Amino acid sequence: MINLTIKQALEKLKKREISATELARAYLARIEKYGKQLNCYITNTPERALEDAAKSDERYANGKTLALDGMPIAMKDLFATRGIRTTAASHMLENFVPQYESTISQKFIDAGTVLLGKSNLDEFAMGTFSKTSYFGAPVSPWQIEKRLTAGGSSGGSTSAVASGLAIAATGTDTGGSIRFPCAITGLVGLKPTYGLCSRWGCVAFASSLDTPGPITRTVEDAALLLSVMAGHDDKDSTSAPNAKFESDGNLQPVLGDGKKLRIGIIKEFNNVQISSDMKNLFEKRIADLKSMGADIVEVSIPNVLDALAAYYIIAPAEASSNLARYDGMRYGLRVEGSDLYDTYKKTRAAGFGEEVQRRMLIGTAVLSSESYEVYFMQAARVRRMIADAFNKAFEQCDLIVCPSGASTALPLDSDLSPLEYYALDLFTVAMNLAGVPAVSVPCGLAQNGLPLGMQVVGRRFDDMRVLQLAKHIETAANIDNRPTVIMGE
Ligand code: GLN
Repeated sequence: MINLTIKQALEKLKKREISATELARAYLARIEKYGKQLNCYITNTPERALEDAAKSDERYANGKTLALDGMPIAMKDLFATRGIRTTAASHMLENFVPQYESTISQKFIDAGTVLLGKSNLDEFAMGTFSKTSYFGAPVSPWQIEKRLTAGGSSGGSTSAVASGLAIAATGTDTGGSIRFPCAITGLVGLKPTYGLCSRWGCVAFASSLDTPGPITRTVEDAALLLSVMAGHDDKDSTSAPNAKFESDGNLQPVLGDGKKLRIGIIKEFNNVQISSDMKNLFEKRIADLKSMGADIVEVSIPNVLDALAAYYIIAPAEASSNLARYDGMRYGLRVEGSDLYDTYKKTRAAGFGEEVQRRMLIGTAVLSSESYEVYFMQAARVRRMIADAFNKAFEQCDLIVCPSGASTALPLDSDLSPLEYYALDLFTVAMNLAGVPAVSVPCGLAQNGLPLGMQVVGRRFDDMRVLQLAKHIETAANIDNRPTVIMGE
């Protein structure tokens, strides 16, 4: 049962071939069997899952079904869930139980989903391998004996979906945290247009970049999830007034039958070092698109290679401001000190891990009066230039494609410096700075048998066409990402 896609599972439920309770039990059994080893969940909610499933079965019996009725999902542990602890993978929030529900998780409740648990991530979503989690890193189910990273920061979500410990999951993408982990675990991960999905109730990292989005096994499943997640939210001041996305899970082809589509390739990425497998598979998929009638054009995003530097100034700056609220006074960890300032200091020193502290120090430094103009404002200018360059590029093409990363998943015990981790975001951060939609879709398997992904990038609010083109790539690449195949069962 755990090999079903959302589309297939919904069909079987409608025909009453399976029940929501059976489906939930199948996933709960798998969590029981593999959950510890993969470490993809921080908190499991089996009782809640069975309650949700029972309600879903009632709706199927009454014929009053909801959009994702009975779908067992994992919620990234960054989304506040009422009555269920929400940790952001930090010691600071280890025992934090919200009294409110984030807009995104509420939308999943309203769509009839079954909550399996809260998935693991990098602490406050800062990282690339999910190794900064206070609860230890999740593991990729691919070639599990090698203990590879499932990516980060949404690594618990990708580990869970790839291994069949959830049918789909939520992620958040500030600089690549949905796309990178999906690319190296053979999944589909969409960073929607900024403003399409509400950030309300999602623990803030860098507010002008944070973007909730779906993590699924197929492109059409991503469209189904996005339909539920998208929409304007008065509670989020950056939510787009016209935020809307509707799909019944059937994506119309944008190529073939003489259809015309101009696909851009970013010139500046041509000279970036990537593995030969990534290069070959990317070229193969471009050739496929060409043979289906696409016009391939070279476009220029002149500052795209400076996106990393700009991102690692802007994101820490916003983080240092957002994380100032964790002072031990109202909620979260509190370590008593000799006076108020000592309590602040002791609480923050104990509550935050090394990477989070590094980001806050960088952020505070670039916002200081001596550095503000040369670092923060300069980064803001580069950001503007990149956003403008995307707009210009989209005058020459309809969609852009590029790799999602340089190579396949690395072992969790790889010894990388902070800068080496940051460099892994080279292909993803520019899209966050520009606020444009980008999906990572599997483009094939490397020689070592591990998956690789490529991105489709579109104009703001062109999320539909991004997914439509991704579906063509998914079909051409045709990798087998069924959980039982990955787990060798
Ligand atoms: N790897 C990037 C970082 O560490 C992206 C994180 C994210 O998108 N949440 O900041």
